[in-house]
Amino acid sequence: MRWVVKGRSVEFIMTGSFRDKRVICPSCGTDHISQSWNPVRLSGEKTVLWCADCGFGWQHPLPTPQDVRNYYEHLPPYILQGAQEKELGFSRRIHRINALRPGRGRLLDIGSGLGYFLKLAEKDGWDVLGVEPQEWSVKYSQEQLGLEICQGGVDDLDTVTESFDVVTLWDVWEHVHEPLTFIKTCTDLVAPGGLLVLSIPNASGWPARLFKGRWRYVMSTHLNYFTTSYVERVMQDQGFLVERTDHTLKLQSLIQGFGSVLPMEFDTERLLRLGRKGSIERGRPEQARSDGGLERSPLILRILGRIRRIVLELNLVRLPGSIGDLMDFYCRKR
Ligand SMILES: [Zn+2]
Repeated sequence: MRWVVKGRSVEFIMTGSFRDKRVICPSCGTDHISQSWNPVRLSGEKTVLWCADCGFGWQHPLPTPQDVRNYYEHLPPYILQGAQEKELGFSRRIHRINALRPGRGRLLDIGSGLGYFLKLAEKDGWDVLGVEPQEWSVKYSQEQLGLEICQGGVDDLDTVTESFDVVTLWDVWEHVHEPLTFIKTCTDLVAPGGLLVLSIPNASGWPARLFKGRWRYVMSTHLNYFTTSYVERVMQDQGFLVERTDHTLKLQSLIQGFGSVLPMEFDTERLLRLGRKGSIERGRPEQARSDGGLERSPLILRILGRIRRIVLELNLVRLPGSIGDLMDFYCRKR
C-alpha cells in the first residue's frame, strides 16, 4: 500500500482488497462503501465501488491523470466515434435544445470528439466552440469540418464565466477525475437562464443492476458511475433545474450482458459491427469495410444495413428510467 500526495488531498493507492484498507469516496470523502461490483470487464485488481452516503460509484483504484492522458494520446486515428450512430442521436438532441432555447446563441461542446455534434448545431444557427483533448480529433474537426476547436481540457479554455447559452457534455463526465470539481467548472460557464446538457451511462437502470461488473458501460476509461438521483442532486446544488430527462437502452448492451454469461467465447463486438456502413472509426475511410472484415454480397449488406438502422432507431426510443442504461439531462441555470 502507498499514499500519494495530490494537490491538497492525499490519495490512497490500493494494493490489496479494498475491505482491508481505508478507501475514500472521491465525491464526498466518506469511507462508507456500500457495495463493490465484480470487475469482470476491468483488468487486474480493479473494481467499481459504491459510496453508502452519496450514492456515487467509481473505478478503484483510479488510474492516474497521466495514465488517462497517455491512453487518449495513443488512441489510433478514427477510433473515437461512429458517425452514423452519433449523427442520428445528435440531430434529435439539437431539436430538444432548440425547443428549450429557441433564441439560439453561443454553444460550447466539451469533449467535442470529431465535431459531428458541433457541425449539426452550427447548421442550425448556433455560434459554436469545441474543446477536445485528442489531437487527431481536433485536427479533423478543424480541417474537415471547419470548426473552431480549442485543444485541451475545459481548464484550458480562455473564456469568462457565464459566457455560453448552452454547454454540452456528450459521454464525458464518466471519464474525468474529480467529477465534482469538473462539473463545477462546466456549470460556471453557463449564463443565467442557459442550459447544461449532459449524457452519461445510467448506473441505476436495471441493465446496470443486473449485469453489474459485466455491464457494457463498465470499462477502463469510465472512472465515474452515476445514478439518476445523484445527478439530480448535484445539478440542484449547482443551482440548476432539471427540465428534461431522456432515458434510452442500447440493445447492444443487452447482447453484451447476456453474451458475457454464456459458457463459450462470444465475439459481441464483431456481431455489433454487422451491417455498419464504411465508417471512419474502423480505420481510414477508403479501407473501411462494412462488416469489420468479411466480404459480403450487396444484398446481404443491404439487409444487414436495414437491420442495423432499425436497431439504431430502437436505441433512441425514450423509456422509463429504471429500464434505460443511458441518460440525457437538460438542466437550466436559475
Ligand atoms: Zn460519497
